[in-house]
Amino acid sequence: MYVANSKSRVVAAGRAKDTLKKQRSLRGDLAPDRIAAILKGLDEAYPHVQCALTHSSPWELLVATILSAQCTDVRVNMVTPELFRRFPTPAAMAKATLPELEELIRTTGFFHNKAKSIQGAARKVVGEFGGRVPETLAELITIPGAARKTANVVLGVCFGKAEGVVVDTHVFRIARRLGLAKGDTPQKVEQELMRVIPQKRWIDFSHQMINHGRQVCDARKPKCDRCNLEQVCRSKDKTWES
Ligand code: SF4
Repeated sequence: MYVANSKSRVVAAGRAKDTLKKQRSLRGDLAPDRIAAILKGLDEAYPHVQCALTHSSPWELLVATILSAQCTDVRVNMVTPELFRRFPTPAAMAKATLPELEELIRTTGFFHNKAKSIQGAARKVVGEFGGRVPETLAELITIPGAARKTANVVLGVCFGKAEGVVVDTHVFRIARRLGLAKGDTPQKVEQELMRVIPQKRWIDFSHQMINHGRQVCDARKPKCDRCNLEQVCRSKDKTWES
């Protein structure tokens, strides 16, 4: 009969502890089957997602995304046609004056800062990137007004590149409600999502979460009775129609 010595008993106990830890994590918020269920639910609810900002080039999307800070996409889409008619290229926008730009984007809010950003972006794209929007995150985030969120939007939508996850106000809120992330800043939430969501899903995942935030998982009053993720959501602020 085999009798375990003290060393093998310690090893066995360690293995049992690891298994228990693994089982617990498999049952937790980040369990692979739970992540898969969330991704499946998003696919079913939003099978044909696309960027809601109207654009016909990477440059136009870059500008539209800068303008979308603290502003709805609908409002941005109302001002960009005239903006791009007057200043159709980075070279043209680089020569625009701040008052000219401010007048055109006034209704998007924070128009003084945004005018400086898009003028600065145009000058940077013309001066350092030969008039073309660069295709790497490292280069994009050097452009005035373009932080990681903007860079990830442009990379994903225009170049099909997933270098990060777009974390806007909707993605930030829903990722935390679904227990996919706990971070208290968009940067921390992005890092957490990059660890748990497969990279090939990053681009669609962001668009689907943004749609879900706009249509169902409202900030103040989520419509949990019509949410197809309700079964896997353990958010404490679920609300129901009375
Ligand atoms: S169940 Fe409610 S809180 Fe959870 S994701 Fe759906 S809408 Fe949001």
